[in-house]
Amino acid sequence: MDSQKSHVTSMPFFCNICEFPHDLSRDWSYFEKFEMCQECATSLVEARQEDWKNGWRPSQEQIDTYINKRMCLIRQYRGHNA
Ligand SMILES: [Zn+2]
Repeated sequence: MDSQKSHVTSMPFFCNICEFPHDLSRDWSYFEKFEMCQECATSLVEARQEDWKNGWRPSQEQIDTYINKRMCLIRQYRGHNA
């Protein structure tokens, strides 16, 4: 047993923030640090890593704004005739 490892031992199938499925190879290093996928980490946390270390977390409002933006993008990608 490797008890020296961080408390994060496995990544859930879906991201805690955006609820999209994780991509193991792409998201793991972000999940290990921030417990969210790469997309969320880059958008919400990466610019504020120092704050994150000091205990800052994105507010629900920031998360909602980010999710809304992301949903709009995805809808655009999925087709213009929807
Ligand atoms: Zn995410």
